[in-house]
Amino acid sequence: MPLQKVDRIWMDGELVPWDEAKVHVLTHSLHYGSGVFEGIRAYATDRGPAVFRLTDHIHRLFNSAKIYLIDIPWTPDQLVDAVKETIRVNGLDACYVRPIVYLGYGEMGLNPLPCPVNVSIAVWPWGTYLGDEGLRRGVRTKISTWHRHDPNAVPVAAKGTGMYSNSSLAKVEALKAGYDEAILLSPQGYVSECTGENLFVVKNGRILTPPVSAGALEGITQDSISTIARDLGYEIAEANLLRTDLYLAEEAFLTGTAAEVVPIRSVDDREIGDPGPITRAIQETYFATVRGEVDRYKDWLEHVSA
Ligand code: PMP
Repeated sequence: MPLQKVDRIWMDGELVPWDEAKVHVLTHSLHYGSGVFEGIRAYATDRGPAVFRLTDHIHRLFNSAKIYLIDIPWTPDQLVDAVKETIRVNGLDACYVRPIVYLGYGEMGLNPLPCPVNVSIAVWPWGTYLGDEGLRRGVRTKISTWHRHDPNAVPVAAKGTGMYSNSSLAKVEALKAGYDEAILLSPQGYVSECTGENLFVVKNGRILTPPVSAGALEGITQDSISTIARDLGYEIAEANLLRTDLYLAEEAFLTGTAAEVVPIRSVDDREIGDPGPITRAIQETYFATVRGEVDRYKDWLEHVSA
């Protein structure tokens, strides 16, 4: 589906018309993948649009920049306000939010330190990332022949733009083979994550998710789901998982800001089946939470209008 245009994009402090939000072809990050970014969602609530865990996402953006030695020329509070302002001026109730910090035009070559640092925030309406049917019935997944990153090849704690060529390769491989999503293993052979989502399995009634040391991004949804699962009374832990743990899972699901909570129906054609009771309970609570319907988690919502 093509992007649904809105009126304005925030670029270095200016609200620029959508069609004019352009960069030079010699933008450093275009050539070397030297940017860092975030993916955030705002949801419609009875108090107007609210951004889910906005401050946490902006904090992770600054951490990604720190890892790459990029100095963001704004404070976290300024970017939190800029996200809210961008949603407000576009009159959106619910949307996806994409802040990106990129190295701009002015220098080329692999030393990024002299490059100008640019910041942009785009918002647009974005439906279910893995499809309505996937959300309801679960997705078919395939273990990728591409490994997730070795943490000493690229920093897995950062959301660096260049790191996503790994995700794209795995995604295309899975799609061309007729699956919905790829699961990547770490170079050591442990389950890491999907192309843009963390992963959970249910084994002997316990919920397990791979640790950061298996090369997964520390997902903000993963963290929300861990809290929700614990509060629902489930036992949950981080654990190194083998591919056979996926094949034999009682239930499995993936989580991410774009994808939200999506059941996994099969892995490499080994059926897990229809979404199970734990997956359903967690999915239901997550959607109620982001819409502001669960008092206990109201602090996770950051309303766009004061
Ligand atoms: N893993 C990867 C590789 C991702 O790109 C994302 C999306 N940011 C996630 C996991 C899920 O993270 P979050 O829940 O913070 O969106």
